[in-house]
Amino acid sequence: MTGIEGQDLLPRPRISPDNAPFWEGCREGRLMLPTCTGCGRAHLPPGPVCPFCLSSALDWREAKGTGTISTWTVVHKVWFPIFADRVPYNVIQVQLDEGPRLTARLVESDAPPKVGQRVSVLFEQLDAELAMPAFRPLAG
Ligand code: ZN
Repeated sequence: MTGIEGQDLLPRPRISPDNAPFWEGCREGRLMLPTCTGCGRAHLPPGPVCPFCLSSALDWREAKGTGTISTWTVVHKVWFPIFADRVPYNVIQVQLDEGPRLTARLVESDAPPKVGQRVSVLFEQLDAELAMPAFRPLAG
C-alpha cells in the first residue's frame, strides 16, 4: 500500500461479532455470507437472526461472488479517504446468485453500469487490515 496522508484516520466499517466473518472473508479474498440452516437462505446485512424465518442457526458459507446489477448510481462523495482521487465513481447494487444484495464499487469498467449486467467480486486491500469488496464486469 502506498503511503496515504491521514491513513490512520481511515473510517472503518462498523464491525461486530455479527459481521466479522464477512470482513475476515474479504481479507482472505472470499465472499462469505451468513446462511440460515433453518430455511437455507443467505442474507445481508449480516445479523444474528435470519430475517426470513427468525432462526438464529446461521452458518457462514462462501459465495460464488457472481451476480447481476440490480441498480446503480454515481457517487460524488467519498466513503473512504482512500477513494478521494477517484470521485465520482460508480456504485452498484448486485443481486448475488445466492440471493442477497450487496452494494459496492464497480471497477475495471470504462462503460457505465447496466442493470442486468453480470459482475464478479474482487477485493480491494485498503490497508493492512481492511479489504473491501468491489465488482468487475464478468466477461461473456
Ligand atoms: Zn431462515
